[in-house]
This record gives sequence, C-alpha cells and structure tokens, in this order.
Amino acid sequence: MGFMDDFASSLLGWYAENRRILPWREDPTPYHVFLSEIMLQQTRVDTVIPYYHRFLERFPSFEALAEADEEEVLVLWQGLGYYSRARNLLAAAKMVASEMNGVLPADKSKLLRLPGVGEYVSHAVLSIAFNQPYAAVDGNLMRVYARHEAKAVEANDPKGKKECAAFLLRRMESPSQFNQALMDLGELVCLPHGEPKCASCPFARRCKAHLHGNPLDYPLAKKKNDVKKEALTVLLAFDSEGNIAIRKRQDQGLLASMYEFPNVVGKKKNGEFTDIFGNLQDIRFLGKAKHRFSHIEWDIDVYAANGVVDGATYVTLEELKRRYSLPTAFAKLLKFLT
Ligand code: SF4
Repeated sequence: MGFMDDFASSLLGWYAENRRILPWREDPTPYHVFLSEIMLQQTRVDTVIPYYHRFLERFPSFEALAEADEEEVLVLWQGLGYYSRARNLLAAAKMVASEMNGVLPADKSKLLRLPGVGEYVSHAVLSIAFNQPYAAVDGNLMRVYARHEAKAVEANDPKGKKECAAFLLRRMESPSQFNQALMDLGELVCLPHGEPKCASCPFARRCKAHLHGNPLDYPLAKKKNDVKKEALTVLLAFDSEGNIAIRKRQDQGLLASMYEFPNVVGKKKNGEFTDIFGNLQDIRFLGKAKHRFSHIEWDIDVYAANGVVDGATYVTLEELKRRYSLPTAFAKLLKFLT
C-alpha cells in the first residue's frame, strides 16, 4: 500500500472506530447536511444539537422551511447567534423550493448562488451529502494539516487553505467519510486547545510536528483582532400594566432586524433619559453587564423605568419569550428584574 492510500486508510480506519454520533450524520440527506453546516458555522456541535432537532421538527424539508415566516425562523434560532445565517437559510430554502424543484443541486456553481453559501459550505455539502471529492477546509482540517506537514501557516490564511485542500485531495478516498473523519480527529484528538493526544492519533508515526515534538507550534497563532469596546445604556421600561418596551432594530448591521430593549450608545445619566427615550418616571440603575460579539464588546449600563418610550411596542414578558426574537445580548439583561 502506497503512502497516499495509507493516509486515507489510517484515517478511515480510525473514523470507523471513533467517530462521533451526530444527528445529521445518521440520516445525511442534503437538507440535513445543509441545515447542520449552516448552524455549525461559528458554533459548537453541543450547542447546535438541540437547535437542529427543534428546527427539523418544525421544518422537516426545504419546502416546509420555504413557507415559514421570518419571525418564526428567528425565534427558533434565538440564542444561536449570527442571525444573518437564519435569514440566509430561509432565503436559500425559498430559492431551492422555487427554482430547484425542492432539490439541493449537487453542483458547486449552483450551490454558490444560494444566499449564505460560500466556498466552505459548498464543499462540506458536496462532500458530505453527495460524496464528491471536495476538501471542506475548516479550522480542524487546517490544524491537522499544518501539524502533519509541520507547515508554518495561520489557520485562516487563504493560500494555506488552498495548499491544505490540494494536499487532502491528493489523498482523498470516500470524500464524505474522509472530511468528517478529519473534522472528528481535529475535535477529539488533534485538539484545538491544549496538548494533542498524539498517542491515539492514526498519524502519529508520520506527523512531522509530532515527530519534531512541537505540535503546539502549528498552525501559527493568529494575530489578535482588536475588539472594539462600545458603551451602551439600556432601558427596561414598563407601562402601567407591567408590559415591557421593545422595538425592532434597523435592518442593517449588527443584530439587524432583531428586537431590542430601548437603548442608546454611550453612558447616560438619569436626567437625560426623558429627552432620549420619552416620558419616564422612577428611573433606577439596575447594574452593569457585558456582551461580547466577534469584533465588538458592549459595556452595558442597565436601567429600569416606568412610562412611555417613543416608538416602542409594549408586550408581556411571556409574549416576549415566546413570540419575539430577542438576541442574547438583550435577553440576558432580564436577570436584573428578578
Ligand atoms: S500526531 Fe498529534 S499533532 Fe500530529 S495530527 Fe495526530 S494528534 Fe495532531
């Protein structure tokens, strides 16, 4: 058996024994794979699983999803974050239903026309659902590759990703299993944080970084991206019946079109509130909170008040939980009320 075959057979042999049982793998229809790949972007497997089940129960097919209204999709997505994924998913389902007869195409250029689908998702779907030879290069595959080859490359370096894909394609057999095996190996053995478990790795005898004794040197640490800090004053405002004020965010930018509590950028004083929000009484400071997005951190002052906020809708707390897609950054402020 040659070197190339050996890579695939070691990997696939390991996978047969050690693979993770994941719901979308048990019945990997194109819809299941597509949905899971969209949910898994920027999000951990453990977090995704309950969302995946709930979503699939409500929307079992592209056609069912295509009929949904956006608010319901966003409510089911609530807490998963990166809400543009949910909107794109809905738009993609509509396109699959109306232009592709409800069938996801096994064709890269067609997949790339779907909203929210880029290089990675197209490759993941083509390989996992259709068993076509594409390398789905994510952080796990890059880490295994960089260590196996002792390649000094950053995990998200575009040129490095191309080299990784070419390296893997030359060795690829059973593309669906091959890619999933590398994802699992990266999650379970060639760990993203801390010492990799080289003793249980099928590549231990030929992995250059392991043989050199320095796997943690690969891939190169990425340069820290600066997180911008932003001060925010948030108001939990109640009307005389105890309903809380919410409003819809603008349809562009961070948390676009999601609901929010009335807020304003910057730290504000009680005396300024009526001017900013409307006619308010009993303004009181509740506490401080932080919320971290990928590039911004909110440093939040939370206040409560009674009265009328201009332009807000008043809902019961019960309705708020059931019917409105309130992002975690705001939902977690409700703890100040108890
Ligand atoms: S031998 Fe160690 S460093 Fe190399 S691929 Fe396996 S787990 Fe990663």
